[in-house]
Amino acid sequence: MLLPMLPTVEDARKTILPLISALNKVPVDTSSALGRVLADAIQAPICLPHWDNASVDGYALRAEDVSQASINTPVSLSLQEAVPAGQTAQKPVEKGTCCRVFTGSPMPPGADAVVMQEDTKVTSEGSVLVMECVRPFEYVRFRGEDIQAGKQVIDKGKRLTPFDLGLMSALGITQCQVYEPPKVGVIVTGSECVEAGQPLPPGKIYESNGLLLQSLLVQAGANPCVFPIVLDELKDTKERMAAAIHECDLLITSGGVSVGEHDHIKPAIKALGGTIHLWRMRMKPGKPMVFAQLCGKPVFGLPGNPVSAAVTFVLMVYPALQKMSGCHSWDLPQCVGKLAHAIENQEDRHHFTRVRIDEEGLIRLAEGRQASHALGSLTLSDGLLAIPEQTRLEAQTEVRVIRWPRLGNF
Ligand code: AMP
Ligand code: MG
Repeated sequence: MLLPMLPTVEDARKTILPLISALNKVPVDTSSALGRVLADAIQAPICLPHWDNASVDGYALRAEDVSQASINTPVSLSLQEAVPAGQTAQKPVEKGTCCRVFTGSPMPPGADAVVMQEDTKVTSEGSVLVMECVRPFEYVRFRGEDIQAGKQVIDKGKRLTPFDLGLMSALGITQCQVYEPPKVGVIVTGSECVEAGQPLPPGKIYESNGLLLQSLLVQAGANPCVFPIVLDELKDTKERMAAAIHECDLLITSGGVSVGEHDHIKPAIKALGGTIHLWRMRMKPGKPMVFAQLCGKPVFGLPGNPVSAAVTFVLMVYPALQKMSGCHSWDLPQCVGKLAHAIENQEDRHHFTRVRIDEEGLIRLAEGRQASHALGSLTLSDGLLAIPEQTRLEAQTEVRVIRWPRLGNF
């Protein structure tokens, strides 16, 4: 078979991504919005800080009153009142007076600076000796210096982080519009597959793609729904896919996409009236992946080999899910590092190799076999290194690695 005739990974993405669109918007309380994708940008309804306030514990005063103050020439001010954080001053600070303030206390009218408590002494008569000169506006946090009312503070399409939610709370916002997360069906096929926890009859294997894909989906911010294992029979495959597609926004199958007579995913999609947009790519592992539409919804037929399933998920399904989630960035984060040793790809297709990244950023092949069934090296890897066809990358070459999704990296 002529590999150069097959689409590259980039070609495949150009076929798939235009056929994916974001789901509906829904309102959500900010208390349950962590990791959701913002559908309407957030504008600041108020200024932050909301008013001028003190940034230290001390005394609010008029800077010109103490412009000559020093340890040897302290200036005495009469203390008018104390304003704890959460209260406001009753009278303005006038010439020769000061007002006790604490970090966060609103600035009393008339005062333009704060002297730190450490640079003062309170006399037995109750006046305050200032022993340090103070410049105008010193230790004052101004209204709006952080965020001006009306400013757009969080863009549409961002996955909300703890910092975004903290900012929204500071702005008094309790609800926002987010996109519905995709509901994703997972159908594992293969007459040899048995669920872990069951007895293992001769010739059977414990299947691993159900939980692997379910977990990747959770990390991608989607809602997975894993259906029972489907045997390698066309009728069953068809019926189960037809039922599943109505329950989800996107369907993933595992196994049954090669050329054997027990591979029923493509025939099932065709028999159900679906459209196959893509089958096979110039990549390793993951070559036989199928992308189709069924009832207008995207279907990814991933290969059964666990590493092929993981790699095609990361390169193809993950960006599609991010686009479907309304997210403005579709790909996993990448990091840059140097190769610890040379790596060569003599084939006519892209290799996606499992690599490890050490603390110095040195990148080496993950321990163990690189074959598409080898879960051992998958567990020991931090991400994927793409090596173009017919390419040798020398030691010390600077390369980019696609990092596996991390926990909490919705
Ligand atoms: P297939 O894509 O169906 O041709 O399967 C390719 C290889 O992956 C075969 O060795 C299968 O036994 C294995 N395989 C298929 N499905 C799974 C699964 N869910 N978990 C683990 N291995 C699988
Ligand atoms: Mg199979």
